[in-house]
Amino acid sequence: MTSEIAEPFWRTKSLEELDSAEWESLCDGCGRCCLVKLQDEDTEAIAYTDIGCKLLDEDGCRCRDYPNRQAVVPDCVRLTPQTVRAIDWLPTSCAYRLVEEGRDLYWWHHLVSGDRDTVHQVGVSVRGKVAVLEDDLPLQDFVDHMVRWPLRLPRGATRRTPKTPPVSAAAAASAASPRKR
Ligand code: SF4
Ligand code: SF4
Repeated sequence: MTSEIAEPFWRTKSLEELDSAEWESLCDGCGRCCLVKLQDEDTEAIAYTDIGCKLLDEDGCRCRDYPNRQAVVPDCVRLTPQTVRAIDWLPTSCAYRLVEEGRDLYWWHHLVSGDRDTVHQVGVSVRGKVAVLEDDLPLQDFVDHMVRWPLRLPRGATRRTPKTPPVSAAAAASAASPRKR
């Protein structure tokens, strides 16, 4: 008798078929969608900035008030299968977009790597890249913060498998301990 390994849910289910736990676990925690976007009035083109939403935890790359986010930030877009299909500004690496497009998750996604830190280690998350939060910057200065990197993946993140096995947070902390020269 041969034992079969079950395919993970994101390869076998559509967005509509995910239960709420699967849906929430699909978010990679990159925080890219929580950067302020600017829309050109004439062309309607969307540009990313390195300005964080007022509720963005810049280090954890998570929303600081997720359950109440839309009461605090009315234009926060709640992702659903419909909105994932409708909006064109989600990063190409966004797990919801990948599943919607029938693509697999990258190696650094925590559901693949088993470690929520790999999204930070590989440089996909916004950790260390948020210049300022929106409430701390005058509106007229927002245009000075337009950036392209949220729509691209850093080197090493585009592979389907890691070049070297991901380093766990504990191992990284151990490796980073001070050394005498
Ligand atoms: S871009 Fe997608 S995967 Fe990344 S934090 Fe936003 S919803 Fe989650
Ligand atoms: S309210 Fe929270 S989830 Fe919405 S954009 Fe801001 S930080 Fe992200």
